[in-house]
Amino acid sequence: MSDDWKKYRDKIIGLGENSARKSYYPELQDKISELETSKENLLTIINSMSDALFIHDTAGNILLMNNKARYLYQIEEDEIDRVNVMDLIFDQAIYNQIQLIWENAIRGKSDIFELISVSAKDKEEIPVQISINSTVWNGDNMLVAVVRDFRERKKYEEELIAAKKKAEENDRLKSAFLANISHEIRTPMNGILGFAELLKQSDLTGEQMGNYIQIIETCGFRMLNIINDLMDISKIESGIMTVTLSELKINEVFDYIYDLFKPEVTKKGIRLIKNTDIPLVICTDKEKLIAVLTNLLKNAIKFCHLGTIEFGYTTKEQSVQFFVKDTGIGISKEKIEHVFKRFIRGDHEMSPKYEGTGLGLSIAKGYVDMLGGEIWVDSELGRGSQFYFTLPLTKTEET
Ligand code: ADP
Repeated sequence: MSDDWKKYRDKIIGLGENSARKSYYPELQDKISELETSKENLLTIINSMSDALFIHDTAGNILLMNNKARYLYQIEEDEIDRVNVMDLIFDQAIYNQIQLIWENAIRGKSDIFELISVSAKDKEEIPVQISINSTVWNGDNMLVAVVRDFRERKKYEEELIAAKKKAEENDRLKSAFLANISHEIRTPMNGILGFAELLKQSDLTGEQMGNYIQIIETCGFRMLNIINDLMDISKIESGIMTVTLSELKINEVFDYIYDLFKPEVTKKGIRLIKNTDIPLVICTDKEKLIAVLTNLLKNAIKFCHLGTIEFGYTTKEQSVQFFVKDTGIGISKEKIEHVFKRFIRGDHEMSPKYEGTGLGLSIAKGYVDMLGGEIWVDSELGRGSQFYFTLPLTKTEET
């Protein structure tokens, strides 16, 4: 606060602090002491506020700021004259409107709003709530800005929003889990129990028995797959899935996978094409690479009824890009951005033709992420899908 008034007081004959004629104006002297005390009290109160306070004119020139304001905006006492309130506003939207807000405040329309401001020194962005009022200071219209630091509140808000999102996601997952998994588990369980019951009949032929046992076995494998998928996804999510790196000849992996799936694909009347690039040795987790390719190929076989399934890799500068392409049913635009999320299934959802848990792609994504790559899909409904994933390239071997 300016101490200029002291100079004026001292000029009034007899009122100067050291004047021998002080006693000539005892009442005036008392009033001055009262005013001085009340000014000291006002300053103490202003400086005890936990909010920052500025008094400034409509050009943004600061007349007074309290300790909290100096602390929040990193402004030293001798720098106050050089700082303009506008220098502390970061939000462009508010920046353009601030003059209007100030003019309104002067006309008696006080305002409270939130904005992002910046500290004067290290330009730290500070979310704040500001309340603007007008006051008369030394006969001029001035503005009083009380600034509340919202950093903590914003942090809590963000944490709350994240927690709410997580809770909603968990709720969705719980419903999806119950809908998908209970259906997926009940079907093979019914198969196992039903055919085990049939096996109890004494008049079965050897062929019938063989068939029933085959069905029980298939259902058992399906159950095991579901349980394995659930175990894998929970291990990935809880961060306890480990990566075991070894040097791997990719072509050998592709030969193995081709031999594994060829009979099933041929049985469906589809062509399986293996399209590999130059022989490569990469350092990666063999089991996980095989699991990703297997998941993608199983889906391609499940969702393709005509045409071809092609899988292979191409070598890029820093990575190997794997692909699995099919000429199957494709994925709708609405679903495509969600297919890598847990328990998300296509529009066919409960169709018995396309059994599944909605976990295969999320496991594939989990593994590719762990191995330092990326996974994505291009697809068009009715025209087929192309899944791609990359793995970092660590070593190349000439043929
Ligand atoms: P699931 O196959 O058990 O349903 P996934 O996580 O493997 O679960 O796949 C999620 C969904 O993505 C599938 O339900 C399906 O709608 C879609 N999808 C995945 N692969 C293909 C594909 N090759 N062709 C068409 N749709 C696919």
